[in-house]
Amino acid sequence: MTLTKQTGLIDRISGLLSLIPRMPKNISEESTAGLLELLPPEARHSLAAFFQPHVRLAGLTFLDMLSEWLSNAQGAAAEGKKVVLVPFNFPPELITAFDNAYPITTEVLTTLAAAGLQGGGERYWEVMMALGLPDHICSSNSIELGSMLAGEDLMAQAIVSAAPGACDANSKIHEFASHYLGIPQFIIEKPVDESEAGHRQYEIYFGGLIRQLEEFLGEELTEEKLRYVLSRANRCAELYWELWELHKPNPCPVPNLYSLMLAGTRFSMWGTDTGVKMMECLVETTRRRLKEDTLRPQKARVLWAYTSYYFDLTGLYTWMEEKQYVHLMDALDLSMPQPIDLTSRETMIRGLIEACWNYPMNRQMGAPSMSRAWIEDMIYAAREMRADCVVYCGHDACKQTWSVVSILREELMRRAGIPTLILHGDSWMKTTTPITVIQQELTEFIENVVVPKDQRARKTKRRLPRPADSPPAPGKE
Ligand code: SF4
Repeated sequence: MTLTKQTGLIDRISGLLSLIPRMPKNISEESTAGLLELLPPEARHSLAAFFQPHVRLAGLTFLDMLSEWLSNAQGAAAEGKKVVLVPFNFPPELITAFDNAYPITTEVLTTLAAAGLQGGGERYWEVMMALGLPDHICSSNSIELGSMLAGEDLMAQAIVSAAPGACDANSKIHEFASHYLGIPQFIIEKPVDESEAGHRQYEIYFGGLIRQLEEFLGEELTEEKLRYVLSRANRCAELYWELWELHKPNPCPVPNLYSLMLAGTRFSMWGTDTGVKMMECLVETTRRRLKEDTLRPQKARVLWAYTSYYFDLTGLYTWMEEKQYVHLMDALDLSMPQPIDLTSRETMIRGLIEACWNYPMNRQMGAPSMSRAWIEDMIYAAREMRADCVVYCGHDACKQTWSVVSILREELMRRAGIPTLILHGDSWMKTTTPITVIQQELTEFIENVVVPKDQRARKTKRRLPRPADSPPAPGKE
């Protein structure tokens, strides 16, 4: 395989997205079809999900946001600022709050490649394999890092690794890339100790990370800039909880694809005016749908226990809607942001530390008992969202989730009366399990297990929703 100039993942994706800002948000059916025709077949099929009439406004706003995010990163690099690669389990707003830095998120880039490029992200995966990495590493990080290691793309000048303590696969791949590229890696390790001592330790680590970043960037993290960014992050958090509430009616007014857009916003432009605009769009369009009374009845409300599938957006999200299956959220949406006290630099940093501690994966897989923390969060979300069932996508690299998923399934059934489907596939690569097989297994499960179960009156009592309530800390319920 020869990689040439312009073949890097970021270059290819930003080329594709550069069309979006020039498009009117009220683009006609005809123009939409014309635009999609310009795309290669696989990308056309997958990206068509963003152009479904009921999703289009939010879809275009989302693609627009990502286009801006990527061109900001390219612009920052051109101006000599440092592009900092962060993983999905770290608040990008900390990097945004520095003048000399710009964050890009590994897993968002991989998802964009998987969903929007011809051939998905597989050519970059092959780079990692060619370098001798084992095929049970996590595709979510290795696809983007494969592109960077091939050396023909926008390059990060530093890596923040927040996965130690939560995911070995993620942390090792970032460490490998840091050594291979010769760029610094700043590590923030999540202690599995949830006592006060554990929290104190994390505060020390986080303080050390800020000092290292300040030294590397030659700039102090100022109170003013932090307040500016976190006031926008707080607004995003308010809108997050509004959207959370909007999932509760039956039929659910939130389109399936909003799950992907919510996580994508949290992991990229959270804490910026563009991020606020995106979140407002998700909430306002959903409110409108609720009023319009055009919602179709639903057959099953599905909560995803961990990641979902991202390599064929039409084949999953749109297909599920056609089948009247609601895709409520996946675990990447469970960042459950809390308002940050903007009083002082210290209070703001404390808020960021808390946000990072509770990020998806940190909160569950980095807990003293993975199974307990994951079960409690899933039961909380399933009850709040009134889920009829849970699906685990069975991603190959997730040794930790595989090791406890059968306990999760038993406890969801025993405590909440909710059945769980355990699938086998890779969220970012269609070669492990094609979307048609996933569709077939989902259909069989929902039609044979979930729908008949719903027709019987559910005997298990559900806890009343707690709108203003934040989720319980693992082990505190
Ligand atoms: S938790 Fe699973 S999906 Fe997430 S980075 Fe680790 S291996 Fe990949």
